Amino acid sequence: MWRSRVLVAALASLSLALGAAGSAQAKAGLPPVVSHVPTGERVVFFTIDDGWSHDAAAARILLEERVPAALFLLPGATSYDTGYFTRLAEEGRATVENHTVNHPDLTTLDAAGKDAEVCGAGEQLRAAFGRTPKLLRPPYGAVNDDVRLAAKACGVKALITWTHDFTTWGGTPLTPRLEAGDIVLLHFTPTLAADLRRALDAARAAGLKPAALMPHLKAAGVL
Ligand SMILES: [Zn+2]
Repeated sequence: MWRSRVLVAALASLSLALGAAGSAQAKAGLPPVVSHVPTGERVVFFTIDDGWSHDAAAARILLEERVPAALFLLPGATSYDTGYFTRLAEEGRATVENHTVNHPDLTTLDAAGKDAEVCGAGEQLRAAFGRTPKLLRPPYGAVNDDVRLAAKACGVKALITWTHDFTTWGGTPLTPRLEAGDIVLLHFTPTLAADLRRALDAARAAGLKPAALMPHLKAAGVL
């Protein structure tokens, strides 16, 4: 299984190198990279990355406000308290998605390395949460066509980057103006509860409702 996926990725990579016609064809079949969802609806998309901090106040907001967040989790960050995230998925409206195993810049890895990171995380998250992730957030937002090919071989339907990062990284956090279809990036850090409040307030001020990514990607024809 592992070897065949690497072979598929290697062959696809080869076809990318075979000139313009082959390249265009191969690109047509690659999963899209999405930083903003083209939609006519007044919706915004909340995504939360990594999973190291398991803050009770942040969980309470996600559950009470019924935020349909996509959680891009590292298996190592969830393994010591899987229940924190299971609750968000089962009692709330969160979905668990792929963020690789070790958070590398995927563009720097060979085909086998990409496979181990993306397929490996998908398999570990499936074992822990019972569902194979369909979306991938490439660490650092680092993507190229080889990363998209590797993701496709692991069953990824779309690579999701972001429009605005609402994470408090120190100093005064930014509060960008949100527009319909924007993708909000947050992280499981100790400031998540405050960051979530700020992002939810910004959405409300702009007349936008948090919505689930997958159905809107399909409705927008992105998938
Ligand atoms: Zn990350």
